[in-house]
Amino acid sequence: MSDPFDEKDRVAPVLRTVADAAGPYLESLPTRPVHDRGRDALIGELEGPLPDKGEGAQAAVERLLRVGAQAATHSSGPRFFHFVVGGATPAAMAGDWITSLLDQVSGLWLASPLATRLETTVLEWLKDLFGLPASFGGVVTPSATLAHVTGLAAARSWWAEGHGVDVSAEGLAGLPVMPVFSSGLVHASTRKALQILGCGRDTLRVFARDDAGAVDLAAMERALAAVDGRAVVVANLGDVNTGGSDPIEALADLAERHGAWLHVDGAFGMFAAVSPRTAHLARGVERANSVTVDGHKWLNVPYDTGFSFVRDRARLRQAFGAWGAAYLEQPSTGDGRIDYNTYGPESSRRARALPIWATLCAYGRDGYRAMVERHLDVAARLGELVERAPDMELLAPVQLCVVCFRYRPPGVPEERLNELNARLGEALLADGRVYAGTTSYRGMTAFRPAMVNWRTTEADVELLVEVIRELAARLGTA
Ligand SMILES: *Cc1c(COP(=O)(O)O)cnc(C)c1O
Repeated sequence: MSDPFDEKDRVAPVLRTVADAAGPYLESLPTRPVHDRGRDALIGELEGPLPDKGEGAQAAVERLLRVGAQAATHSSGPRFFHFVVGGATPAAMAGDWITSLLDQVSGLWLASPLATRLETTVLEWLKDLFGLPASFGGVVTPSATLAHVTGLAAARSWWAEGHGVDVSAEGLAGLPVMPVFSSGLVHASTRKALQILGCGRDTLRVFARDDAGAVDLAAMERALAAVDGRAVVVANLGDVNTGGSDPIEALADLAERHGAWLHVDGAFGMFAAVSPRTAHLARGVERANSVTVDGHKWLNVPYDTGFSFVRDRARLRQAFGAWGAAYLEQPSTGDGRIDYNTYGPESSRRARALPIWATLCAYGRDGYRAMVERHLDVAARLGELVERAPDMELLAPVQLCVVCFRYRPPGVPEERLNELNARLGEALLADGRVYAGTTSYRGMTAFRPAMVNWRTTEADVELLVEVIRELAARLGTA
């Protein structure tokens, strides 16, 4: 085998190899552990020097598939609870394959009207699903972190303009530090975005009135007044430790009163808007200036996908357009001819809208509501099991899709609980039947499984409780 051109007639059989393996692999996910034994040695089969003489597509793909199907972390299965991780719905996965098949250049309308118009369509659909105003601009990003970069770059552009500076053209030099305020629920990715944007991750000021991170509105209001409202307020809708949220409406009132920019991190919490049972948590997001949402979490599209929604879409073009100070919309954008590479940090980019279109078309508003409500039920069920258990302690009310608790058998003194839970967390990750490690919450080492995978059912969290007990008995509490 030498030139790939020699293989031009073999594409279909190679793809069929993958398609044939997909069914059995996906069907194994509900019952197999999150990781298989011996994966380190297996991965070794793919390492070594660059081959001089290629093996050909069929052989290479077969090896990658055989090793990959065993050595991968099966995190798209129903019991990967350690981080907020979705699976890929059947339609989303197929849509993702189609993305690779069509291999579109999706940054420029001229290069792919299909990818561009589908991006516009899915952003419209998602605004509708989330109850965001249809007038908001938006862009598909690779992640929530990059959506923060997008929304906060728009905020930075607004803020610098208030100081008489076009930050896209002139940079930050000579400007004061941009004030960014949040509660103790703020996610590390917000700091990372500030770090990337040259604003400095440590400049973020947290206003919390307790060790759980609840926002101190009065203190934040004083700080806003001190900077004449020229600040960014970051509101958190769904935090990773407990699933708790800031009072979005109160923060929207505050931002509005002072003329500040409101940025909402709804990476997974934005899906609260999808069910009437939790929609109250998201109320006020429609008043934000920028909103971050993740796609590879509760939307259950494959990695990697996120969304940035920005009230003033011209801000996106100002922050990311290659032509500097073009603040006003180009007339050509009125007819759908958007160049999405001027709306976000990426230039060349994958047509991520295709799997999103496929999954939203396949399941619709009702399907997503049903899935979200099943997850609410699953989380509530786990919360109930924990509350009833004499050897477990619920550490925060269950509000969404995260349950924060620790193992606390009678007779073990408080000062030994962190170490016990840390050891238990390690044992659980090594065991692999149910994947949930620990976090630190209010000084306590705690579990905080998150349930957002479309495959997850109540049986999966019942198993979590069983396995924790079994492993704890094996570790002993003495
Ligand atoms: C996961 C998460 C993020 C970061 O998302 P990435 O897609 O990993 O960049 C930000 N905020 C919250 C609340 C999250 O849960």
